[in-house]
Amino acid sequence: MSDTKETILEINLAHLTHNYIYLKSKLHPDVKLLAVVKARGYGSDAIAMATHLQKIGVDYFAVAYVSEGIALREAGIKTPILVLHPQVVNFSTLIKYHLEPSIYSTRILREFITIAEEKNQKEYPLHIKFNTGLNRLGFWENDIDYIINRIQETNAIRVTSIFSHLAASEDHNEKDFTLGQINSFKKITLEMIDRLGYVPILHQCNTSGILNYPEAHLDMVRAGIGLYGYGNEAKYDSELKPVAFLKSIISQIHTLEPGETLGYNRAFTASHFTKTATVPIGHADGISRQYGNKKGFVTIHNKRAYIIGNVCMDMIMVDITDIECKEGDEVVLFDDNSSASVIAESAGTISYELLTAISPRIKRVIIDNE
Ligand SMILES: *Cc1c(COP(=O)(O)O)cnc(C)c1O
Repeated sequence: MSDTKETILEINLAHLTHNYIYLKSKLHPDVKLLAVVKARGYGSDAIAMATHLQKIGVDYFAVAYVSEGIALREAGIKTPILVLHPQVVNFSTLIKYHLEPSIYSTRILREFITIAEEKNQKEYPLHIKFNTGLNRLGFWENDIDYIINRIQETNAIRVTSIFSHLAASEDHNEKDFTLGQINSFKKITLEMIDRLGYVPILHQCNTSGILNYPEAHLDMVRAGIGLYGYGNEAKYDSELKPVAFLKSIISQIHTLEPGETLGYNRAFTASHFTKTATVPIGHADGISRQYGNKKGFVTIHNKRAYIIGNVCMDMIMVDITDIECKEGDEVVLFDDNSSASVIAESAGTISYELLTAISPRIKRVIIDNE
């Protein structure tokens, strides 16, 4: 615990280890774990996350874009890095940093082979992504002929893995749909392996896939949100530990008389004497306007204080009428008692969005109690 004097995002590496061990405990010992550290490590600190995960033995990393992979390489990450959504314009740099592309369309495959051949690559590792129902990125099953023909024409590349992504693994009402995705992936991979003549790593589970579909872990799983301490469900949230705690302080306290208004556009009108605290964090820091007007809340001395009025760029105001507190006291935006998933839900969104929005302006404080 630090003594909070300004807005900080505390990053707890012991919690990351805990979540890693918890997720590993759900896997057969032979199943590899890929850690997804895109979007600044879900808003935390990708380099701190990856460095620690590499130390404790993670098998693979994934990022969304080439620039994110370069940042990891420049920080000394040696573990293989899958780039989930590369663009052709970055393929040369991707090869230079030995990042491994997700190849998700005939256009991307063609372009990648051209560049890999130009650069005299031999068996450059790539990952073939199939669409099994998310309809976002990926080849269709009927692209297999094309893929195999292109691969057999060149020795510049090698298929290191074949993967797909589940659309609703956290939603128990969509179990039939998810099982359908799992089945079509199985069918696709059988055909791919038969045609390739070798067996790549197969993977399709994200965090909720790991937790809800143990029969679908295959050779590797891709954990994002679970590593950061959220399981998309209360029963898993209670087993995991949030890695990032967002904390701030009370800058100033005001007392509003009945009828007085607060903040931009006078969005809040006091109906009775109202004590408010101004907190130095705003929409430029990732607390978007959707948390204003009592949708979101903070915690002060273990009590909820709702955000009143509109969220400003650099500040929020919260209602502390019933809370004993003073200027300089700590304000918790989220931590292990006040979960980011609960706050996100109260404003109609999900933990992923709240976490990844926390802007680089907020100081990261790494806590390493290992
Ligand atoms: C982001 C992402 C993941 C991680 O999902 P979580 O639900 O955070 O575990 C896994 N696979 C792909 C393809 C992704 O884009």
